[in-house]
Amino acid sequence: MKLQDYLSEKYNKKIEDCSNEELYVALLNLTKDMAVEKVSNEGKKKLYYISAEFLIGKLLSNNLINLGVYDDIKDELGKAGRSLAEIEELEPEPSLGNGGLGRLAACFLDSIATLGLNGDGVGLNYHYGLFKQVFENHLQKETPNPWMEENSWLHKTETSYQVEFGGMAVTSRMYDIDVTGYNNRTTKLHLFDIESVDESIVGDTIDFDKEAIAKNLTLFLYPDDSDDKGRMLRVYQQYFMVSNAAQLILDEAVAKGSDLYDLADYATVQINDTHPSMVIPELIRLLQERGIRMDKAVDIVSKVCAYTNHTILAEALEKWPIAYMEKVVPQLMPIIRELDNRVRETVSDESTYIIKDGLVHMAHMDIHYGYSVNGVAYLHTEILKNTELHNFYKLYPEKFNNKTNGITFRRWLMACNPELAGLITELIGDGWKKDAMELTKLGEFVDRDDVLDRVLAVKDGKKAELADYLSKTQGFELNPASIYDIQVKRLHEYKRQQMNALFIIHKYFEIKSGKKPARPITAIFGAKAAPAYIIAKDIIHLILCLQELINHDPEVSPYLKVIMVENYNVTMAEKLIPACDISEQISLASKEASGTSNMKFMLNGAITLGTSDGANVEIAELVGNDNIFVFGENSQTVIERYARGDYNSRSYYEKDDKLKRAVDFIVSDELLKIGCRENLERLYHELLNKDWFMTFPDFEEYVKTKESCYEAYEDRKHWAKMMLVNISKAGFFSSDRTIDQYNKEIWKLS
Ligand SMILES: *Cc1c(COP(=O)(O)O)cnc(C)c1O
Repeated sequence: MKLQDYLSEKYNKKIEDCSNEELYVALLNLTKDMAVEKVSNEGKKKLYYISAEFLIGKLLSNNLINLGVYDDIKDELGKAGRSLAEIEELEPEPSLGNGGLGRLAACFLDSIATLGLNGDGVGLNYHYGLFKQVFENHLQKETPNPWMEENSWLHKTETSYQVEFGGMAVTSRMYDIDVTGYNNRTTKLHLFDIESVDESIVGDTIDFDKEAIAKNLTLFLYPDDSDDKGRMLRVYQQYFMVSNAAQLILDEAVAKGSDLYDLADYATVQINDTHPSMVIPELIRLLQERGIRMDKAVDIVSKVCAYTNHTILAEALEKWPIAYMEKVVPQLMPIIRELDNRVRETVSDESTYIIKDGLVHMAHMDIHYGYSVNGVAYLHTEILKNTELHNFYKLYPEKFNNKTNGITFRRWLMACNPELAGLITELIGDGWKKDAMELTKLGEFVDRDDVLDRVLAVKDGKKAELADYLSKTQGFELNPASIYDIQVKRLHEYKRQQMNALFIIHKYFEIKSGKKPARPITAIFGAKAAPAYIIAKDIIHLILCLQELINHDPEVSPYLKVIMVENYNVTMAEKLIPACDISEQISLASKEASGTSNMKFMLNGAITLGTSDGANVEIAELVGNDNIFVFGENSQTVIERYARGDYNSRSYYEKDDKLKRAVDFIVSDELLKIGCRENLERLYHELLNKDWFMTFPDFEEYVKTKESCYEAYEDRKHWAKMMLVNISKAGFFSSDRTIDQYNKEIWKLS
């Protein structure tokens, strides 16, 4: 399909005469029309991937790539003097996710469509999404992030259900987004909304009436849960999501001929983290309504639901007070009590009970009544089996399995780095686009100087592009000849942005004392903190204060710059990742379940500086220790120290002069002049008296390893070789591989 033909037919206009906005809308509609024409898999058994988040990113260029028309459209626009890149900028990014978990769900949909599997995503249509981050006075401020425009990817469908809560009911409406697969079929992302949603209850901030459920239910992802009303709203949202999902699942199964006793032949549900856990009692309830006995209903649902665990952080394993549940979903409580009773009758280990101390443990329900429990990287699954969920593993060893995360190479290489994708194709052909393991063929070129030069040239080009982009959009001045050292991910203490900040202070002191780095360093951060997560916001404050101090210090800034980009999201990630030299993956060992940005960076030729955590372990195994910089205590040591409970950060602080100097600087006059005393002192005391995520024990080795990383960078040829090895080994991390494993080992779709 030619864009001009489409414009002539639909709008009677020439490309040359259209504004970029008009071209964007035309391309959006053209793409939607093309997607609708594609067939989807109508097989008997269908996967429902239920997730509170789908961090899908902009869709235009990915859809054009997957539909096989990207190059043609780009050329056609180019010939008319127009730029596809400029048009793409106009698309708003749907703000339907928070971080890795939501991005994973989006990558999975791409792979499900690409592999031609029968599977849909189910989630919520949040009007203001997570929140938009702005910086004011070196502090994070949250504002609403409206993303839906009159012309969007959403199709309004005829599907609508009643969802009842204690004392009220709402009417839902299903919206669909077509998910295109690469040169293959399409699948759907179903996003449920309420008919009565009222955007007008939101002003300039993310505050709103949390009790007006019939108006607010689908306004925000993860509304502030620092009070009861906010926590209760999350329960409302979760039940709304799964009740719609459950009604859809049963309707679709029945329409295909299921008598519901054989539901497992028609449906499988992947519960992405604990947010959709109530789908289990809800399905049981609906089956009972349709005349099936409790015993049998439990049996049926237990063959349908599978659970993915994404974290070992105890606070993230949701537990809802019975009182909330009685208020919001009274119809589920008798079922949940019965499910708990059945566990109590057969299991002696009280730690696995569903209801304990007045709380409903959602993950426990998933594990007892799901048929599969998976972790998201080798190390993570081992920790689940041996430590965190050991008592469950003893009960159900056969349920536990690992599915190491992956990323879609269409978005994270072909779309965001066409230059590198082009070079790869020139070297090994384009089979890698469908079979990512073909990237190993790049191994043949690691000793070819001409190839290594071109790998470096592509990186240099992307670094210059990023400098240009950040200058235009956020007013930063980057030196493209510097090392781009990047840490972008949610702000959380376990990810240890604070350790990176301490390194920057250390480097600042070195430069001040005359010890200049061989090459300038640009330390780049991007991170949102949860609105109620005080210390995380203090860490952002510290980084922004360092940015202010260092970038304006004429002695230091020629050698070191700190850049904290505002509102880190998928669009920003697509600019940053191709330009990265050093990928910071420095979580406290045992705490990062997998990570997926580590995979995106590796695929784009960045070298990992990381701990033995999450998928870093598998990256190291694949590339070999010569092609990654690993440091820090291992997960076993960390787990044992937590078990002993004897960690004392102050003892490390007192032993290490460099560390002490860096920590003390947080409350120095220089920084207090720029920042807020309250925030900086709180962070200082937190580190000195608690440091729950143990940055201090790893600090010295972090500094040493990072220095050796910078040193290695100076041997450009050798560095380029390392880059190429990393790219060549990234095939394992294609989400096509991950989804193939989910299908063969869990879902078993035909
Ligand atoms: C990939 C991605 C993440 C996940 O990053 P991790 O470093 O693995 O936590 C978070 N946010 C965005 C926008 C991403 O693209």
